[in-house]
Amino acid sequence: MNTNSQQANEWADLMASNGVRDGIDSVGLSPMTNFTGNIGGVEVSMLHHGSNEELEWGSRAAPEWRQSDPERNELYSPAKHVILGGGLAGGLIALALAKQGRGAGVALIESDQQLGGNHTWSFHDTDLDDEGFDLVAELVAHRWPRHQVRFPAYSRIIETGYSSISSERFARVLTNRLSAAGARVYLGKRVSTAGTSIVRLEDETVVRGDVVIDARGPKRTLDEDRVGFQKFVGLELELTCDGPWTMPLMMDATVAQVDGYRFTYVLPFSPRRVLIEDTVYSDNASIDVEECVRGILNYAARNGAEVARIVRREVGVLPLPIEAPRCVSLRALPGSPPCVGYRGGFFHAVTGYSLPIAVRVALAIAAAATPADTRDAVAATARTIEPQHRFGRFLNRLMFAAMPPASRWKAFERFYRLPEATIARFYASRSTWRDRARVLLGRPPAGIAWSRLLGAGFFQSSRNES
Ligand SMILES: Cc1cc2nc3c(=O)[nH]c(=O)nc-3n(C[C@H](O)[C@H](O)[C@H](O)COP(=O)(O)OP(=O)(O)OC[C@H]3O[C@@H](n4cnc5c(N)ncnc54)[C@H](O)[C@@H]3O)c2cc1C
Repeated sequence: MNTNSQQANEWADLMASNGVRDGIDSVGLSPMTNFTGNIGGVEVSMLHHGSNEELEWGSRAAPEWRQSDPERNELYSPAKHVILGGGLAGGLIALALAKQGRGAGVALIESDQQLGGNHTWSFHDTDLDDEGFDLVAELVAHRWPRHQVRFPAYSRIIETGYSSISSERFARVLTNRLSAAGARVYLGKRVSTAGTSIVRLEDETVVRGDVVIDARGPKRTLDEDRVGFQKFVGLELELTCDGPWTMPLMMDATVAQVDGYRFTYVLPFSPRRVLIEDTVYSDNASIDVEECVRGILNYAARNGAEVARIVRREVGVLPLPIEAPRCVSLRALPGSPPCVGYRGGFFHAVTGYSLPIAVRVALAIAAAATPADTRDAVAATARTIEPQHRFGRFLNRLMFAAMPPASRWKAFERFYRLPEATIARFYASRSTWRDRARVLLGRPPAGIAWSRLLGAGFFQSSRNES
């Protein structure tokens, strides 16, 4: 195993050991019990019919779920869509189906005790079309009319709105919506094997459906040897008096460039509540969380913010592709369910953001006439994303293979001098050929030679993507 693969294998453990969860009312479902209770303020009931077979868990609003299979003399209720993973991608698919009036056919299986994990998912207004914005509108916890970037010798205010979804709100809204729609949500249930229409959980429970959709989140590694990493530690802070930030600071790259392209990301939720994130594009997956926490608190202090307490912490290490030949969903094996979300390669190859594409996939699945059309809908979306992904991989090669870590910030500074529309389409994974030319053409950032860029980008590109 090469060093990157070893490092990548460590990151999930790191995340698990460092994650701090938002608190919502949640329950763990033991396979041996019947449960009636409250999740996120919603009354739910769970029936269990013996060990080692199918579970049924529906809201009280959906008694029609309770059907029986006379041949097997046991109760069961196959779903239409079985969604594995109640994170961003899986949750949005369930929500889109519920909004289409098809929620009663959804079974959503999540290994955690709550939906949505521990995240703040942000996006630009221009990332989504009207339909996409309609889908996520009620999930948005914060919205700002503009945002800002800052580099050593250049700063800019970008007149594009920016929004954030908190895991807490995501879980609450989704739980309410799915419960009202009669969907079944299995919490605390880990999938062990998944086929195209049947899923076995670790406790041997079997769940069946017309189609299974795999949204189990990032794998520990991408299916390739060479990756870069985006690593981040974020602290949500309560301040003793009003902080200095009035709009999101997407990138403050005036911080010391240690370990790669490093910047601080600031989301002022209110004058006295702020998320400050230390982010680095690095060659390795190792992350010293405590060191990052100290750096964030120093950053707050340097900017005149007095911290009353740390409210929440989030940690992430995302592998970014350099050479993967194609979007994962275009390589799906027969017999395996279609993969969506980060696991399916539905993310921006450079930023690691997946929300804009997750929305597109969710809408495409909900628009498919029948569950059987899901695979085609996912593949069709993958084909539209693939050229953008290929361009992103190419940029990653330039960044990770051709630019010394301490100089990588120059590429981003140069990018942020481009027209707003070009920047917007880049984030939305809708870059045109003209946009791509704008990003690439012109003099390379100072200190980076053409020969190095060409060697890392074009030659490896033709070798690996032909
Ligand atoms: C800290 C952090 C911040 C991020 N911020 C942004 C952002 O601002 N904007 C943006 O667009 N992107 C952001 N991203 C990137 C990306 O959008 C997220 O990682 C996003 O959550 C990926 O969505 P997903 O549904 O693929 O995976 P996840 O949201 O991770 O969901 C996967 C779900 O599957 C569950 N699961 C896993 N294995 C099993 C199993 N065997 N059985 C059952 N359930 C299982 C997990 O518990 C999880 O809930 C961020 C990533 C991180 C780590």
